Amino acid sequence: MNKVLLVTGGSRGIGAATARLAAASGYTVCISYVRNQAAADEVVASIAEAGGTASAVAADVSREEDVTRLFRHIDETCGGLHALVNNAGMLETHMPVEQMDLGRLQRVFSVNVFGSFLCAREAVRRMSTRNGGAGGAIVNVSSAAARLGAPNEYVDYAAAKGAIDTFTLGLAKEVAGDGIRVNAVRPGVIYTDIHASGGEPGRVDRVKGNVPMQRGGEAEEVARAILWLLSDEASYSTGALLDVSGGR
Ligand code: NAP
Repeated sequence: MNKVLLVTGGSRGIGAATARLAAASGYTVCISYVRNQAAADEVVASIAEAGGTASAVAADVSREEDVTRLFRHIDETCGGLHALVNNAGMLETHMPVEQMDLGRLQRVFSVNVFGSFLCAREAVRRMSTRNGGAGGAIVNVSSAAARLGAPNEYVDYAAAKGAIDTFTLGLAKEVAGDGIRVNAVRPGVIYTDIHASGGEPGRVDRVKGNVPMQRGGEAEEVARAILWLLSDEASYSTGALLDVSGGR
């Protein structure tokens, strides 16, 4: 039987690249998305065309009822869960901290932090050997922003990713004895749609001169690191924060 992988936010960008690569590596893949059904359908169709198996569920990770419905779908259609990539994430328009209101902070932390906690909770309940599961692996998608702070752009998002780093360290230790490895990747500037949501579609090309490797990254380059952390090749790695950021 193929291993079953859930990639949250698998309709676009890093999540879509991870879903495609995982399916090509033999995983049965479930992706979630929040509103872009056409993009999700396209990922599922491209996986099927390549001979893989995938399904897509609309589920906002910041809504607990959506998360429980998403995992029920996996229980009912995949019959088990072996791996989770907590990839769904968002940021808002560039803004200094002095202008941020509570609504923005709640949206940013709800999706990036609380959503990852809720999905990890559901995954641990199913994968933990303590609960009769077969073990598994979780990869959280953090950001180099957790180290850099993203001043004048989105300190809220950077702080949320800092929370993801700490979450990764804590959960990794909590479930290490229950057959579950928990790691994180910290991408640098990657060519995806997320920069347009920050109000600057061309951001990667503006900042790439600050990257020691002098270029932005591709979603597939992050996906390969995620797939390695999920795999048995990384069998002794847990609580690791893997930078995929061209040296930045
Ligand atoms: P993206 O191209 O904007 O894609 C975001 C994905 O997340 C989409 O599939 C989107 O679904 C989904 N999503 C957004 N909000 C969601 C919610 N509330 N519930 C469920 N799904 C939701 O972003 P990306 O650049 O690939 O980012 C993926 C991850 O990498 C994020 O965690 C991001 O913080 C992190 N990251 C990215 C970069 C970068 O430079 N790109 C750098 C560091 C870290 P829809 O298609 O339905 O909107």
